Amino acid sequence: MAKVLGLRCRECGQEYGVVPNHVCEMCFGPLEVRYDYEEIGHRISRTSIESGPPSIWRYKDLLPIDGEPTVGLNCGWTPLVRAERLGRELGLRNLYLKNDSVNHPTLSFKDRVVSVALTKAREFGYEVVACASTGNLANSVAAHAAEGGFTSYIFIPDNLELGKVLGTLVYGANVLAVSGNYDEVNRLCAEAVGKYNWAFVNINLRPYYGDGSKTFGYEIAEQLGWRAPDHIVVPCAGGSLMSKTYKGLNELAQLGIIPPVKTKMYAAQASGCSPITTAIKTKSDVIRPVKPNTIAKSIAIGNPADGYYAIDTVRKSGGWAEDVTDDEVIEGIKLLGRTEGIFTETAGGVTVAVARKLVEQGRLPADELVVLAITGNGLKTQEAVTDCLSQPMHIQPNLTSLKEAIGLQRQAALSV
Ligand SMILES: *Cc1c(COP(=O)(O)O)cnc(C)c1O
Ligand SMILES: [Zn+2]
Repeated sequence: MAKVLGLRCRECGQEYGVVPNHVCEMCFGPLEVRYDYEEIGHRISRTSIESGPPSIWRYKDLLPIDGEPTVGLNCGWTPLVRAERLGRELGLRNLYLKNDSVNHPTLSFKDRVVSVALTKAREFGYEVVACASTGNLANSVAAHAAEGGFTSYIFIPDNLELGKVLGTLVYGANVLAVSGNYDEVNRLCAEAVGKYNWAFVNINLRPYYGDGSKTFGYEIAEQLGWRAPDHIVVPCAGGSLMSKTYKGLNELAQLGIIPPVKTKMYAAQASGCSPITTAIKTKSDVIRPVKPNTIAKSIAIGNPADGYYAIDTVRKSGGWAEDVTDDEVIEGIKLLGRTEGIFTETAGGVTVAVARKLVEQGRLPADELVVLAITGNGLKTQEAVTDCLSQPMHIQPNLTSLKEAIGLQRQAALSV
């Protein structure tokens, strides 16, 4: 028996087979993967999952592939970190970080979606893979294409951080830097889908790609000892991670693997690109597309593909949303670094800063279990903090010079 029944339109319910397509021909609604949960229920249990590999593939029975994984075998199973010191700063006594800044191999949560999408691309028989990206997806598609022996075409806005660009080129990808923002890049790719027989992971493979994000929710629940947390704060770009993390938790509950889910979901964005959080805060169902202007480039999507579903997830879970300025993003990055020893990129700074705001608003209570989604690595967005950190102490290679420098530093510390 197959666990994947096909695709289904999220709007009108029209059903399709297992095909590389993302929009409904009847109503233009987005398609999602349809699973046979009864069949899956016969296959998995806590024990079967626990005996699986330390990667996203321990949840293989809940992922939209037919055979064995062929790309991204070591992705996922990232640390869930108890964050006491950050918690003390924020006023949270039960705080955890889901640390995808150390995901394998390209240090962001995008390795989850790409491992699934490229395994599916291989099952469909594609030889060329592609994507429209704000940076992390570019890195991940390029790396996994190299690993899997695919040719890759990677479309990015031409103003990305150097780390994101180098971290794509190094894998031998064909990189197209488009003069325009992400939404313009994405529109170009949507046109190109019809012209080239390529697997665009976030366009024609989007239903399969999106379900890779469910593993973020599965791992949080398993790492907490098979239960869902009270609150999760998630940075939103296209909005897929938000709704799929929640979907993952609810699937586990539906299968009887964890108790019913009462988790409240919170969307985090930068104020310079906040179509999702603005809609939630103004209690609107309509996403008003914006032109992004923020240092948080990895989540700077002005017209989010899954924006409506992100809003819906926040609302039905009883959560909320906030956005923060670029200065607050930098403070968030530095706060996480100095309290927990984790260097996150701008999207992680957004999450930490939004969490602080939500605590101040009384939405994240001090004793409840809160998880922050740390989704990317700070070494890729060094520009964001280059001018905002103290400088190294320059000394000569002798003890006198060392003593002098430490004396000066102590004085400086005292005078603060
Ligand atoms: C892509 C990305 C997100 C958000 O992803 P969506 O599923 O598109 O909302 C969050 N954080 C980082 C670092 C990302 O690269
Ligand atoms: Zn439809």
